[in-house]
Amino acid sequence: MMFQSVLPCGRFHLRASTLLELKRFRYKKKWATKLKEKAHTSLALEHFDTFYKPMYGEMWPSIRVALLSQQKYCALVNNYSDHEKSCSSLAGLGARNIINTAHHTGVNKLSQTNKPETDEFQGSWREPVLEDEHWNLQDRDATKAIFETSSFQTSECDISSRELKHTEDDLIDPLSLNPDTNLSEFMPVDKVYSEKEVLKMAEVQQSMFEPRDIQVSTVTPTPTALPQELRVYAFNKGDVSAFPAPKLDSTNLMGYYLLDASSILPVIALDLQSHDSVLDLCAAPGGKTLAMLQLVSADYMTCNDASAARLRRLKDMLRWYYPHHANIDMLQRDGRQMQDSLYSKVLVDAPCNTDRHVVLEDKNNLFKHTRVSERLELPRRQKDLLIAGIKCCKPGGSVVYSTCTLSPAQNDGVIQSVVEEIWQQTDIDIVIQDLSWIASKFRNTFRFYSNCRHGQLVLPCLTANFGPMYFSKIMRIK
Ligand code: SAM
Repeated sequence: MMFQSVLPCGRFHLRASTLLELKRFRYKKKWATKLKEKAHTSLALEHFDTFYKPMYGEMWPSIRVALLSQQKYCALVNNYSDHEKSCSSLAGLGARNIINTAHHTGVNKLSQTNKPETDEFQGSWREPVLEDEHWNLQDRDATKAIFETSSFQTSECDISSRELKHTEDDLIDPLSLNPDTNLSEFMPVDKVYSEKEVLKMAEVQQSMFEPRDIQVSTVTPTPTALPQELRVYAFNKGDVSAFPAPKLDSTNLMGYYLLDASSILPVIALDLQSHDSVLDLCAAPGGKTLAMLQLVSADYMTCNDASAARLRRLKDMLRWYYPHHANIDMLQRDGRQMQDSLYSKVLVDAPCNTDRHVVLEDKNNLFKHTRVSERLELPRRQKDLLIAGIKCCKPGGSVVYSTCTLSPAQNDGVIQSVVEEIWQQTDIDIVIQDLSWIASKFRNTFRFYSNCRHGQLVLPCLTANFGPMYFSKIMRIK
């Protein structure tokens, strides 16, 4: 038998179960409502809208869509495995060797006649406009086609209808932060900045890059032959097929390694010769190390990374791919402290914003509130790493600096401040090598930005969704 108590309640008698029900629907007003924290990926995207849009102008919508879309990979064939078999199976999938294609692409005539052999650097030199327009038109059509599909109109990529939240007016004028203020002078306090404002100012300072004419020569090399030992397969423009995961083959080694095809360009820029002694200053997880090992021997290769965990990943990868991995000199050091000039070629593939990662993944995101200072410190860290890389390089050798960000402050900005510091504070002599011949050779595979001052930059776009990848080459004369 079910027991139901009856309670007196004013003039009525209510059942206890009814009272409980009423309590359940009672609404307790909360005075302090907690706002849901923004996803770190959204913070990153807002940051890029603020700082990249003014920089990349009309190209920004297509770059933005590409950053938010599936990145394109290539298959780097491992010459230590049964490479002929890998090449034929990759070709069978419809991929082509982009090194072969570039090899047969002439260096653009216009670019050779436009640029003097050697010049005291005066300003930016533009790649022929025709190339830009060709890519822009193709990409504009692809971006438009994507917007016209309903799934994209409702997603994050719908920038046509999206108001950019921050405008330049929102930001604090960096010129108002007068660096010449004499600190010993008494200044009456007329404004107290909140912590948020101070961070915003630091953000502006970190992200701004004011190009200056710097005292450095730019040399234009005669384009060298592309290394045929690099076999890099990618699907054609507009083809978004994916490669199957690599497998062990008859040699008990992996047949190929998947990575962003633009990662090959800094390795090509190094122009490795078999006798070169190489330092990979920030090596892990090792995509570029493996590419370099296709060209030089393990006995001449030193790999360094500050992170023990990432260095373990590098060692694991090499065990799967490279039979002489035990001969590689492995270091776990803060690269900024290294300075023995022992190497003829140095790669400084620096830690950076990692633009693709921060707009797609909340995990390990540099735009987390707790990582603000780490992020703001990046250009300083990059500069110290590159200076260390130059010191580790023998006179006559060269250093390639690379990042996977579009941030001008972390690309040309770092080169500019390194050149200034090397010139002012050391007796080292350097020149910058013009790499436009690489951009010209690979113009059918990658979309290059034509306004970099000291290096080359691959821009992500939907038809060839590689990059971003910035790379610049410094040669040490003395
Ligand atoms: N070159 C690698 C590749 O192709 O796979 C990617 C390198 S990743 C962009 C940057 C690396 O720099 C990270 O593995 C990070 O641990 C390392 N790093 C950061 N600060 C460093 C420092 N002070 N000294 C040496 N390595 C550092």
